[in-house]
This record gives sequence, structure tokens and C-alpha cells, in this order.
Amino acid sequence: MQFCPKCKAMMAPKEIKGTDDVEMVCPSCGFKEGAEEELNSTVQEQEKPDDVAVIDEKNVSLPTAENECPKCGNKKAYWWIEQTRSADEAPTRFYRCTKCRHTWREYG
Ligand SMILES: [Zn+2]
Ligand SMILES: [Zn+2]
Repeated sequence: MQFCPKCKAMMAPKEIKGTDDVEMVCPSCGFKEGAEEELNSTVQEQEKPDDVAVIDEKNVSLPTAENECPKCGNKKAYWWIEQTRSADEAPTRFYRCTKCRHTWREYG
């Protein structure tokens, strides 16, 4: 009998998919025997794809500027600056319409 080193619950055997093996898994917190590093790595953020503007929808602290949205004509847009690709290229300024959320970039 084994106990979870994290929460002291009793570990239960669980079949590993596609094999005849079982591994000991904590039913309480999900701890897997010998898989502590793997568990930690799952919290790492995914790398965002190159050349795509990704903003956290929850992040509403972006500054706004007067800039006309090419899509709906709204005159206010959030803006932020991103360093794209190589460091010797000028950073690009992005805008996002506060109304329709259309996002566009400005060169130079
Ligand atoms: Zn546990
Ligand atoms: Zn718009």
C-alpha cells in the first residue's frame, strides 16, 4: 500500500492507456508516482505563434489612443507594442478597436 507524498491519500493503481501496465495515481490530487517533473511541466505556458498578436482578453489595462478603426470607424483603440521576429527590426505597434475588437498593426 502506498500513500501520496503530497496529500497523504491512498494511491490507487490505474491502467496506463494502451498497455497492460498500471501506475499508482493519487485519486485525491492526481499525483503520479515518478511523474513529478512531468506534472510541473504542464503548468508552463505555451509559446505563442510567431507573427500573431495575442492579448489576454482579461487584460483590460492596455492604454487607449485615438485611432480610427478601419473596420467600423470607431475612433478609439487599445494599443501595444510588440517586438516581432528579429531584434534589429523596429517594433510593431498594434491597435485593437475598443468597439468591434478588430486588431490591426501599424508599421514604422
Ligand atoms: Zn495526493
Ligand atoms: Zn472597430
